Amino acid sequence: VITEFEKSLERLNQNLIKDVNNFQRKENATLLTLARNSELYEIVNTVLNYENKFNGIYQYPWVFLNDEPFSDKFKNTITRLTSGPTYFGEIPKEQWDMPESIDVGRAEASWGEMAMRGIIYGGKKSYRQMCRYYSGFFWKHPLLDSYKYYWRVEHDSNLLCNIKKDPFTELREKNKTYGFVITIKEIAATVPSLWNTTMDFVATYPELVAPNNLWNWISKNEGRDYSLCHFWSNFEVADLDFFRSDAYQKYFDYLDNAGGFFYERWGDAPVHSIALSLFLDKDQILFFKDIGYEHSPIIYCPTNNKHCSCDVAYGDLKDSNSCIYKYLQVTEGI
Ligand code: GDP
Ligand code: MN
Repeated sequence: VITEFEKSLERLNQNLIKDVNNFQRKENATLLTLARNSELYEIVNTVLNYENKFNGIYQYPWVFLNDEPFSDKFKNTITRLTSGPTYFGEIPKEQWDMPESIDVGRAEASWGEMAMRGIIYGGKKSYRQMCRYYSGFFWKHPLLDSYKYYWRVEHDSNLLCNIKKDPFTELREKNKTYGFVITIKEIAATVPSLWNTTMDFVATYPELVAPNNLWNWISKNEGRDYSLCHFWSNFEVADLDFFRSDAYQKYFDYLDNAGGFFYERWGDAPVHSIALSLFLDKDQILFFKDIGYEHSPIIYCPTNNKHCSCDVAYGDLKDSNSCIYKYLQVTEGI
């Protein structure tokens, strides 16, 4: 593994043109990755892939965040692979730690019970901290202060096609707030009270709900239940001003106060998706249908793009766990 790794570093050093006068970066945007030091080798693969398929040309900055200090090895290795400015930041303890208001006994009992039922990450505290951080805090990190757009990149994910059109530019030119590739159903057992808590929030702040929203996609049974649909947030390209908005901040605080990030296992994907679906006009969301993307175990492969290293069978919009068909019904009336 080490030899392969050294070899790919060598190849990349030769191939990467760090010519600051020659980049095509146009937008006020950054890539963002949350990672642990121990994930370096997986991150290297993902960075190589994103630089190769997209960022080598645009040379956008890349911000890495961690709840612990990044090791020199991590920083040195990554900096050699990125084409743009690269920043490493630490997450403030008070945004990562479980809040004092959480009843530790109740939380731990629920983790034990969810682990026993075989729910993925059901027993993990750190996973919940990660989900809460991505739900309520990442854009508050000072390293993100100056950017309008961000692209979340996760270890173990790959772009499958050369990106021809800058997704940040696409959001700006089309007046969109948020772009996604994959949308699937959440595991119901991780969010038993998320919908009811959301409905309490909506009853308290009805003025925050947008008129032409994605209500028909995000809910089912005439609004009585959550459809479990969510944009798979390990890929997300978004206008950070959405998260900075008063509506989103109020929503997160309300959810956080209810404790479901720890008593249950609320993910950042359903939280982002419900907020997007309620507070935005549905025209503000963009399906990047030409971007091939994989994050184990799911692949999305565009059917109308020849320059992809994937099988078009995975572009099928009618997969039973996918929410894209319902999304296109609600947004385009297919
Ligand atoms: P999954 O995609 O739902 O299986 O979740 P992951 O384990 O991939 O976590 C999502 C992202 O958060 C990944 O980029 C991880 O590297 C990162 N992450 C998850 N837990 C932690 C943690 O405890 N500390 C740090 N620094 N990063 C984490
Ligand atoms: Mn992941």
